[in-house]
Amino acid sequence: MLKLFKNFRVYAPEDLGIKDVLVADGRIAEIADNIPEPQGLTSLQVISGEGRILMPGFIDGHVHILGGGGEGGPATRTPEITLSEITRWGVTTVIGVLGTDGTTRSLESLITKAKALELEGITTYCYTGAYEVPTPTITKNVRDDVILIEKFIGVGEVAISDHRSSMPSLAELGRLAMEARVGGLLGGKAGIAHFHVGPGEEGINPLFDLLAQSDVPIQNLLPTHMARSKMLLDQGVCLAKMGGHMDITAGSKATEAILYCLKEGAPLERITISSDGNGSLPRFDEKGNYIGLGVGSVETVYRNFVELVQAGLSISEALHIVGHNQARFFGWADQKGSIKAGADADILIMDENLQIDQVWAKGRKMVDKGRPIVFGTFEKP
Ligand code: ZN
Repeated sequence: MLKLFKNFRVYAPEDLGIKDVLVADGRIAEIADNIPEPQGLTSLQVISGEGRILMPGFIDGHVHILGGGGEGGPATRTPEITLSEITRWGVTTVIGVLGTDGTTRSLESLITKAKALELEGITTYCYTGAYEVPTPTITKNVRDDVILIEKFIGVGEVAISDHRSSMPSLAELGRLAMEARVGGLLGGKAGIAHFHVGPGEEGINPLFDLLAQSDVPIQNLLPTHMARSKMLLDQGVCLAKMGGHMDITAGSKATEAILYCLKEGAPLERITISSDGNGSLPRFDEKGNYIGLGVGSVETVYRNFVELVQAGLSISEALHIVGHNQARFFGWADQKGSIKAGADADILIMDENLQIDQVWAKGRKMVDKGRPIVFGTFEKP
């Protein structure tokens, strides 16, 4: 039950220098110089650092754990995610979303899939709802879902500015956001309204209207896919400067987009990145005709993390964007996104070239030498 990580360069995310980290019963017990090895304990495991880097596991706040999409018909419904597709890229906490298809995929399946991944070893949460408004729920409304169902931390992804949205009115968006907020207050959760922002020319104007015309607090709103266009990025920078948060979907545009937002003065603490893993990435022509489909991967968060460091961010800064900011935003700062005493032992070890070596989730080794060693129930190793 005891693990002692000796002589690692620890990023907590702040750079702590070379330290030892003691893990007991799935949690970080102590971080110090030269922790002596407890004698006479047969269960003690010592892992020596030898120049490697130890950091908190990534938090991926937008994953279609159940699969998603289907915009090209039934044969294009994307598959469920497996445990090792998540862990092998350093992610130890995910938030599951339903997405476009709230008809053939249900919230009941979503939370059960989240429970399965939790039993297999990682930490999971979900949003109630889907693209459409009125949005699906398990109880009679969003508020009750967030209060009563442990996995739900808010509502989303609700689609705005998209030809696949249900064109929600401002009143409908406001009601969803307030139900998530009050559900969060009574349920002891963040109570987030998470918005899929499509390519429509309004961008996040509906959210700016909501903030101007209602009492919805800015910290309860989280738009994603914000790297879609320069206009959206500029709106995101504006929201972040107002005290809001913006989420950027990982991938080929994300690194440049984040650097742009920082240059334009968006506070680093208000930017997060998520993978859209196992979601569909449908392509439409300018007339809205479906022309093809890709599938998102959790891998992209790791790729963007490396790119951000190569582009000049410190490891500490990049770690904020892939986990520490999410932990603070969702109210998990004591458990997640940090290497500190009392936090869950979600530990990511990389070599000096930022290649993933080991991933530990709640004190259990899931990945070794870059390869998964723990697999989901029906995965073939
Ligand atoms: Zn989306």
